Amino acid sequence: MTTPQTTTRFAPSPTGYIHIGNLRTALMNYLIARKSGGSFILRIDDTDPVRSEEKYVDAIKRDLEWLGLHWDRVERQSARLDRYAEAAKRLREMGRFYEAFETPVELDLKRKKQLNMRRPPVYDRAALDLSQEERKALRAERGNGVWRFKLDHARIEWHDGILGDLSIDAASVSDPVLIRGDGQVLYTLASVMDDIDMGVTHVVRGSDHVTNTATQIQIIQALGAPVPEFAHHSLLTGPQGEALSKRLGTLALRDLRERGVEPMALLSLMARLGSSDPVELRKDMAELIEGFDLGHFGSAPTKFDAEDLMPLTAHHLQSLPLEEVRETVSALGVPDALAGAFWTMARDNITVLADLEKWWALCRDGAEPLVDAQDREFVDQAFALLPDAPFDSETWGQWTKAVKAATGRKGRGLFMPLRKAVTGLERGPEMAELMPLLQVVRGRS
Ligand code: GLU
Repeated sequence: MTTPQTTTRFAPSPTGYIHIGNLRTALMNYLIARKSGGSFILRIDDTDPVRSEEKYVDAIKRDLEWLGLHWDRVERQSARLDRYAEAAKRLREMGRFYEAFETPVELDLKRKKQLNMRRPPVYDRAALDLSQEERKALRAERGNGVWRFKLDHARIEWHDGILGDLSIDAASVSDPVLIRGDGQVLYTLASVMDDIDMGVTHVVRGSDHVTNTATQIQIIQALGAPVPEFAHHSLLTGPQGEALSKRLGTLALRDLRERGVEPMALLSLMARLGSSDPVELRKDMAELIEGFDLGHFGSAPTKFDAEDLMPLTAHHLQSLPLEEVRETVSALGVPDALAGAFWTMARDNITVLADLEKWWALCRDGAEPLVDAQDREFVDQAFALLPDAPFDSETWGQWTKAVKAATGRKGRGLFMPLRKAVTGLERGPEMAELMPLLQVVRGRS
């Protein structure tokens, strides 16, 4: 038998914007597919017509495109409802599917009783004991029931690509509901059918899906299909180990993009965070793919600090030639003749591209001089020696030399007051690089 082509999928529900936690899943699946020359599917899990929104589908695509995580094809669960109905029919025919009528309140009561008796809150399968008449009566009274998959009460075992050998007792898990009373197919069944039909060979997702995986393995086996490789990555926490679930909303990829985080910075961090490999800025996707190994990831919760993205972003920007940022630089209004010099001067002094704005404003408009009282006279003297613009790369050296000769000041006492007077700042770019870009120096009396 030939080994099937590696096929992975990223399967977001379009009920919100994707966040940093989703990205981890997307990226791992993407890298596995690309590393083996396989195929990466974007699967939109939109079986819930009420919560799914087209704007989120568009936003998910935009986020992935921004990061360069290109998919080979898009699939939508809402277009495959007939396949799910077929699967349901087969499960029904083989006696693995049964209708249950308990209301949420009744189920809750059962759970509470079980917990009181220190028993695991597993569905008691009472519906299996209903006679045809009872079922009919319940249906007449309450409408259609939900359809549950009857688990085989054995141990479910698999070798997890991250967590290692896992074994879950099926008796400790409730028979999963696969179809709701209103007929809506639930994710567990839809996902299994998709993975089978689409030849998915590797399923990587968050460890909140481990129990799902156990039940899905039995459904896959019931449907006579090969079980894919499963791997569950740890969940992200905040920098102090605190749960991130509530804050994930503020860690949407679109927000990070708006904050100026660069794709390579984000990818470099997320493709290695939580693994034994060092997090360092990678040049491109090829480098990320090359060193990626799922087996290097650990099961412990992974600490994530959005602030770590900033130095990586700065580092990435410093490595870019003008060509890559030319549009942004021109959009600021920097004349073409100055673009190269401006970028060379500014790139070491920015964290995000938006910081360029302030450097161009300084060059274009000059700065309100920052002059300490004891330097007032010195600065006036110095400004009198400053030649008229345009300046060139020699200006700073010649000027400070002349000021030194005239005032006797040297070192920090010479340079710092001049820097502050010219730029309005205590720190910033190399003055020799900055001077030729300055169109105006304010505060000359
Ligand atoms: N739509 C599911 C989720 O976002 C997909 C899980 C899976 O990868 O199977 O949790």
